[in-house]
Amino acid sequence: MPVPNRRLAAASLTRLAAPYALLLLAAPLGHGDAHAQASASPGRTRVVVLGSGTPAADPERFGPAVVVLVDSSAYLFDIGVGVVRRWAAALERGASASDATALRVAFVTHLHSDHTLGYPELIFTSWTLDPAGRPLAVYGPRGLAGMTANILQAYKEDVAIRIGPGGEKAGGTRPVVEVHEIEPGVVHSDSLVRVTAFAVRHGTWPQAFGYRIRTPDKVIVLSGDATAGPEVARQCRGCDLLLHEGGFVGDAGARAYFREFHTTAEELARIATEAKPGLLVLYHQRPAGKSVDAGYRALRAHYQGPFVVARDLDVFY
Ligand SMILES: [Zn+2]
Ligand SMILES: [Zn+2]
Repeated sequence: MPVPNRRLAAASLTRLAAPYALLLLAAPLGHGDAHAQASASPGRTRVVVLGSGTPAADPERFGPAVVVLVDSSAYLFDIGVGVVRRWAAALERGASASDATALRVAFVTHLHSDHTLGYPELIFTSWTLDPAGRPLAVYGPRGLAGMTANILQAYKEDVAIRIGPGGEKAGGTRPVVEVHEIEPGVVHSDSLVRVTAFAVRHGTWPQAFGYRIRTPDKVIVLSGDATAGPEVARQCRGCDLLLHEGGFVGDAGARAYFREFHTTAEELARIATEAKPGLLVLYHQRPAGKSVDAGYRALRAHYQGPFVVARDLDVFY
């Protein structure tokens, strides 16, 4: 779908250029250059930011969820709140010719609620809408199987009514979720993608992952939620797109919690300088405010490469 997607990229460029004009002026490689570069050859891979937010109830930012599209096959990374409706919105804008039930493979970075609140939605909305009842495959840390079983248990009466006599799916099958609790390494591979999970440190979580996604024409790295460490840069090493958490709290005001669970702007500048991505995309954004703006300024001051701040429904390719 090259035509609508090109239009999307242009709209995104226009929007991003305005609020960050000062940063753009200060940048040797500005946001505009980055988007022009990113949209120069459409290729087979697109990255759709369905949700760019955090636990904050920001009406502009749904929960973390990113789709890597290769041709018409979709791979979902994190399952934040509103994921299926955001996917439907992306489809309406021409991100893909597939349909609302096309999210059949998902990868979870960690089990924080902001990254998984859309999981029941993904299971049950897709199942309700999909006459074929295709299974959902989900990959993630230890605890994912228990979470899945509990969600299915919580909605067992819904399922019984829908497949029972007179129900809209009378005689149909129950939702099927194939859970893969993973360890670092290649966790999924098919003819279109190879997905590698890598361990990141995210406070007291025993397991949290970032993901490296190799497609026929792109390498994409996604940090998940993480404190600064060497692994993201090691996985990226000149990757095309680095999606990194970037809901900064300025160094001076950093609370102990933030330092244990997240990355400061100065730390991200060091990571990105080493990683050298074609484009750095900040997601997991807190609501706009002074400390967030200060974080962008600090990143710009310490990082010479191109970056953009993702908003919901941005498409990169
Ligand atoms: Zn989070
Ligand atoms: Zn988290």
